[in-house]
Amino acid sequence: MPWKVLPFQDRKRSEALCKYFKVHGSPNIIVLSSSGEVITSDGSLEFAIKYDLVLCLWPQGKSLFYSCQLRPDEFQWNRVHCDQCYMRPLVGIRYGCINRQCPFNFCKKCTDTIKHEHPLVEYLIPKRQYSMNEFFAFVPYLLSSNKQEQIKTEILWKGEAKAIGFYFLTYRYSFNCNLTQKLIQYYKATQSTINSFPIVIITYDIDQQLPVEYWSDIPWLIIPSDYYRLFYAYFTPHECPALIVMSIDGKVLTHIGHHDILRQGSEAIRCWSRGEKVTVFTPNDYVWQHVSCNICNMIPLIGKRYHCSTCEDYDLFFACQSKGHEHLLELM
Ligand SMILES: [Zn+2]
Ligand SMILES: [Zn+2]
Ligand SMILES: [Zn+2]
Ligand SMILES: [Zn+2]
Repeated sequence: MPWKVLPFQDRKRSEALCKYFKVHGSPNIIVLSSSGEVITSDGSLEFAIKYDLVLCLWPQGKSLFYSCQLRPDEFQWNRVHCDQCYMRPLVGIRYGCINRQCPFNFCKKCTDTIKHEHPLVEYLIPKRQYSMNEFFAFVPYLLSSNKQEQIKTEILWKGEAKAIGFYFLTYRYSFNCNLTQKLIQYYKATQSTINSFPIVIITYDIDQQLPVEYWSDIPWLIIPSDYYRLFYAYFTPHECPALIVMSIDGKVLTHIGHHDILRQGSEAIRCWSRGEKVTVFTPNDYVWQHVSCNICNMIPLIGKRYHCSTCEDYDLFFACQSKGHEHLLELM
């Protein structure tokens, strides 16, 4: 290595430097000017993207990434950059490539000027309310669970449905899990059909060649995995699997429908099919101000609170507690 090294015994100094520069992982490169100003704190990412260019830029006191002023009506995509002009964070309208192997993002200005080899789609702005036509504009069709057919996406909202469920799962870890099995069971028990409460599966790891028998049991439609990133960016589920329910006018009814299912079973599905929120909590349920669930981030935590006295600051909500924890939990 052509570089100098901080003595390994000098732990205090390296810890202080980590803290000062907010370094959480390694390797990381932080570039300082001769006067000590931070030129970039994303050095390793800049290097990975364009190593030859950054080795010219850094000595000149310049960074690859640049930031833009955020206007009040614009959205800021944290930890996302434009792969053409290197604006980071990307501000305003974000376009992304729908090719699964191509994680490129572009700002509006670059999208208008570049030619990209795959189709680009405009990302939905998180928390903004869309009509169903707008929301699914880039997803022309869904896959039936036996994967044999392509089904027009508008079937979701052209029937009597008042709400749609979005079920995020990974085939590898959650296809056969307790929650998925329960959801299928309760769903079938309410005899929900695509017309009353459709659920769509969003996943990135379901292979197109999956044997049909795996699917014959699943009464839902699948969003082609090319669009996984777009829905993930809109909903940002905290857990996987996660069931997010949206009413047909584009309002999110719940981000934690998977908790409602575990607590309320079929009753939750009946509520959603009427386009209503599940009243999971009764007025008697205690609200734990300033306490959040360490698994699903529910804040404030409502109802039964399970606390770990071994971990520092660890609490779980009732439904998350059932997933287990390495230490004994105490019901508060
Ligand atoms: Zn750009
Ligand atoms: Zn691409
Ligand atoms: Zn939770
Ligand atoms: Zn613990």
